[in-house]
Amino acid sequence: MTGWVALEGELDRWHAQGQVATLWLRDDDACRDTPALRRLLMAAHAHAVPVAIAAIPATLEATLAGALSRFDEAMVVQHGYAHRNHASEGERSAELGDDRDVDVRLHELRDGCERLRSEFGDRFLPVLVPPWNRAGDALLPSLASAGFAGLSRFGPRPAIEAAPGLRQVNTHVDPIAWRRDRAFIGADAALERLVAHLGGRRERTCDAAEPSGLLTHHLAFDDAAWDFVDALLARTCRHPAAAWLDVARAFALP
Ligand SMILES: [Zn+2]
Repeated sequence: MTGWVALEGELDRWHAQGQVATLWLRDDDACRDTPALRRLLMAAHAHAVPVAIAAIPATLEATLAGALSRFDEAMVVQHGYAHRNHASEGERSAELGDDRDVDVRLHELRDGCERLRSEFGDRFLPVLVPPWNRAGDALLPSLASAGFAGLSRFGPRPAIEAAPGLRQVNTHVDPIAWRRDRAFIGADAALERLVAHLGGRRERTCDAAEPSGLLTHHLAFDDAAWDFVDALLARTCRHPAAAWLDVARAFALP
């Protein structure tokens, strides 16, 4: 059975139960306009699918706002501060890990939040996407009071909130094999992960209310990866039991 058949079958099961499988799209590492970013925006636009652009505040260039202004589908969220690795030698990469003081990290994040808000206005939503999907436990309780309403990492969420007042909505499908030359894993492998999350939600082995998130990295994608995204958006948009949420709805923001 190909991945596409498995996906159709899973969505049909949602349909038969009168349920709609919610999905959302997050793209990481934007800081400027590039042909790759345009490709992502065109794919989202072609299918009228909303996309959350996780932008890096410290390396932001004005061309990003210019590129996004022509695409109503794009909203902006915050991808850490500078996408710099502060983990100790031998540890997994992280910018927001507990190796650094909470106050130092919050100071950077507040500064980054201001930059994004002044650059993107209402298009920016205070959702934090930690680089490498990692944030230290000590930081989480302070994020809501620093102005963040949401947090997005990777994998099924263990709870609706990561800390009081901080809703979490993660991504669940990353079609890049980062340790194998950053290659596209192929449509079947990517769909297997998507179907696994959808099935887990339907069978209540994970939080049924968490939208299934597709994570894209426009700068790392090759033609095959883009073809996959395009086909996925096309097929899901045709299915009555699939719905792509914008980031505000995914996080239930006002
Ligand atoms: Zn990143």
